[in-house]
Amino acid sequence: MSDFEGLRALVTGGASGIGRSTAELLAARGARVAVLDLDPSSVAEPLLGFKADVSDDASVREAVAAAVAWLGGLDILVNNAGIGAQGTVEDNDDAEWHRVLDVNVVGMVRAARAALPHLRRSEHAAIVNTCSIAATAGLPQRALYSATKGAVHSLTLAMAADHVREGIRVNCVNPGTADTPWIGRLLDRAPDPAAERAALEARQPTGRLVSADEVAGAIAYLASPLSGATTGTSLAVDGGMHGLRLRPA
Ligand code: NAD
Repeated sequence: MSDFEGLRALVTGGASGIGRSTAELLAARGARVAVLDLDPSSVAEPLLGFKADVSDDASVREAVAAAVAWLGGLDILVNNAGIGAQGTVEDNDDAEWHRVLDVNVVGMVRAARAALPHLRRSEHAAIVNTCSIAATAGLPQRALYSATKGAVHSLTLAMAADHVREGIRVNCVNPGTADTPWIGRLLDRAPDPAAERAALEARQPTGRLVSADEVAGAIAYLASPLSGATTGTSLAVDGGMHGLRLRPA
């Protein structure tokens, strides 16, 4: 891992889970890091939190401008804020589809739109989008969520093509089930959270969930100059779930 000394990063959804681990890792490696989140109240030094809702364009533009002013420029955008949705196509109405697409897909577009003019002035510009194994795995009971992450996957490729000649790299990470507060909330709603956790773990080839720090490591690699020739790719951080095609014996 190269160090991030002199680089300036903005992490959306950086107050919790994968975003938080990423912001802390980049800062520990020497980057100056701002966090954009719905609730940045838990964000502490050396990070600085900026309150914004990625589904509100004006709030994203304001927060990105304020963050870039504090950072003194921008080299790295980690487009990570996202929300879940469960069920088949019969379980979510139009309003829910629009709400989740607005956060998970258009939210990343809004942050990128606000960040690109600043990234163009960087010598090491990188965008990393947090996608999901759901983009390509055909997971049951995740129609809406999977569609949003499929869109993030395509968006990553299209943005990589559009901005490659400007020296801006765009990649995504595809986490499997990662042990974050999000998964904690899902488990808490299950009738038997311990049994549900055991079932999730058994589904993993590694027999355990992915940690937020492991996803952060992949994001940091794709954000760092070490991956300078890598753009338009997705990096799975899923304990082998997709690539190995293993099922519990
Ligand atoms: P999390 O709920 O722990 O953290 C998400 C953060 O995003 C929170 O701080 C939340 O306040 C913020 N956020 C949510 N909506 C927002 C909005 N409209 N505007 C600004 N901030 C908002 O979740 P996590 O598990 O760390 O997930 C982070 C990303 O990783 C998401 O994009 C998710 O789809 C993706 N992901 C998670 C998993 C998993 O198993 N945890 C797997 C694959 C992909």
